[in-house]
Amino acid sequence: MGEQRNIHTQGIILKKHPFGENDFSVTIYSPDLGKIQATAKGARKMTSSAAGYLETLNICNFQLYKSSVRYTIVQCQIQEKFKTIGEDLDRAMMAGMIVEIFNKSTISSEHCSELFHLLRQSLRKIGKTSQHFLTVESFKLNLLRQIGVLPDLENCASCHERWNTGHIIWLEKSGYLRCENCLYEHAVSEQNGHSRNTKNAKHIEFNIIKLINYLIRPLSEQTKTIAFNPEQKEQLQYLTRFFLEHFLDREIVSEKMMMDISG
Ligand SMILES: [Zn+2]
Repeated sequence: MGEQRNIHTQGIILKKHPFGENDFSVTIYSPDLGKIQATAKGARKMTSSAAGYLETLNICNFQLYKSSVRYTIVQCQIQEKFKTIGEDLDRAMMAGMIVEIFNKSTISSEHCSELFHLLRQSLRKIGKTSQHFLTVESFKLNLLRQIGVLPDLENCASCHERWNTGHIIWLEKSGYLRCENCLYEHAVSEQNGHSRNTKNAKHIEFNIIKLINYLIRPLSEQTKTIAFNPEQKEQLQYLTRFFLEHFLDREIVSEKMMMDISG
């Protein structure tokens, strides 16, 4: 009683796979409902335009019917299609990667609206520019920040001093950023016997921390053209990858593929 059975919502299609003989199962991310599974009945036989709308990345207006077990797509109208992404292999791969990361990271149904907007903005940006690298890194950082798992990037985790150019910054395997003094003290207190052991930590440039703090701003505010050298690119990629894997606790398959392809 009282539960809404017919639902109208907007959503982006994250995934689609055959389901039974005639149906598709579609993973939709909606700003109101979060991530849901919905069945498109008879869609595999359907020649109607609605079936053609059900492609990954498309943003659609859905009319859904909610039963006790699952959602069924009653109607679907396309709202936004990322045409320029589909026409370019590089863009398609980048978009595929961020959608996969998004799908794996959005486990709970919290912050749906913000996360939906982040994904949409990032896809729009990938569709428009050829500077994909920073867009993708910014997407990952903002995703982690909005989910609430991005560690404190402005201060040392131990002495809480705000980072400045004078600091030598270390990223520990545990995911904490510490200044050199605190890293040594922490190593001693952990009694691993090597007070000057930085083997298990990675040095991070202050400039990278500054860049990250710029990249976690809303995409619309990121208007500067940023220059970085290959080493800085590597460090930034290392950090975002580290935080993501730390969170997901497993490798991100498509990203690894990307790395292998781009060598
Ligand atoms: Zn410190």
